[in-house]
Amino acid sequence: MIKVFKFGGALMQDADGIRKVASIINDFKNDQLIVVVSALGKTTNKLEEILRLAIDKKDGELKKAIERLKINHIEITDQLFNDAETFRNQLLIQFENLEGQLKQLDVNSYISYDRIVSYGEKFSTFILNAYLQHQKLPCQAIDARSIIITDDNYTSAKINWQQTTEQVNKKIRPALAEGKFVLTEGFIGSDPSGHPTTLGREGSDFTAAILASTLDAEEVTIWKNVPGLMNADPNRFKDCIKLDQISYHEAIELAFYGASVIHPKTIQPLQQKNIPLFVRSFDDLDIPASVISKDMSMDDKLHNIIVKDRQVLLSINSRDLSFIAEDHLMQIFNAFSQHKIHINLMQHSAVSFSVCFDSNINKLQALLSALKNDFIVKYNDDLQLITMRHYTEELISNFVKGKEVFLEQKSRATVQLLIK
Ligand code: ASP
Ligand code: MG
Repeated sequence: MIKVFKFGGALMQDADGIRKVASIINDFKNDQLIVVVSALGKTTNKLEEILRLAIDKKDGELKKAIERLKINHIEITDQLFNDAETFRNQLLIQFENLEGQLKQLDVNSYISYDRIVSYGEKFSTFILNAYLQHQKLPCQAIDARSIIITDDNYTSAKINWQQTTEQVNKKIRPALAEGKFVLTEGFIGSDPSGHPTTLGREGSDFTAAILASTLDAEEVTIWKNVPGLMNADPNRFKDCIKLDQISYHEAIELAFYGASVIHPKTIQPLQQKNIPLFVRSFDDLDIPASVISKDMSMDDKLHNIIVKDRQVLLSINSRDLSFIAEDHLMQIFNAFSQHKIHINLMQHSAVSFSVCFDSNINKLQALLSALKNDFIVKYNDDLQLITMRHYTEELISNFVKGKEVFLEQKSRATVQLLIK
């Protein structure tokens, strides 16, 4: 039976983390295993920063940022191998390629974003593959860009399921049949012209789900540096409780509202094939995993709290007190779609439309200029969006105590509060 494991960057930020990944893989050597990894530590953020510096032509800072990332990867390589020379040189060639790409950016297109940030996963799989080979584990690294086939919607590319399934059958199945396990990059793929694409930030979980679905895997395990799925973020709240079992439906809701444990797109392909998803502690292998499956019996037994900081609330009003009707809404939604702004919450009255989204100064400015001719647009920023599933009135009053509430939206299972 096929298992898919995903290891995130937080688990692999140093040599010890990589050794531990190898030891876990070794424990499962009798299974048919696909291992999906994301970039080491915060590499993707650092590559985003590098891209920004390159676009802004801040050459001095850019050089330093690349150097820091290089040193970070080289240090880890040096710690893993006694004779790291060869690996170090191969890694340096990849960094040279990255620097070459940064010199020929297409600043008007997101194509450059995907090309640059996808290097993070290339570096991490290169290092992990070298280490697994060194440990004599029967591993075959397969470039995700040759199997995950997408459209050219850069930064959040859509999967071409048929072509991806064909490539998976052609490349992954034979490797598994030879008794090897397969290592591949999460988060990245390629479009029909062969340009690298990315699936959206934190998209490695989604890659694991895609591969599990196309291979009809028995399970997916996302290894985490927390005990499992929690009912709130342990970094924010004390007394968090581990969720032992939730349904696909509940997991989709939680991911949608911003629970950061699982990428929102991950659940759907698994649900369709009824493949369970385990979220399991990397630090303590004795803690039983949280299970996401079709079983809904535990969903409403515990409340869940999701907090999103740095929210902007935009109030869009018609200039002449005319109703905000469908044609206006279409124009507003088009502007959001064009600037790739994801809406977290919205509310509609006769002459005003309120929308809440994650703060991003460039996108906000672009949106304001797109709307200002036809609407009066005002905004509040630095707000907090609290979402509670299976809430109680007491929980709500605890949250709003001493706060200003900008928006509140309630359904039977969910309440959302936008507060400051
Ligand atoms: N490395 C990518 C990111 O940080 C993908 C992932 O971590 O899942 O967004
Ligand atoms: Mg990551």
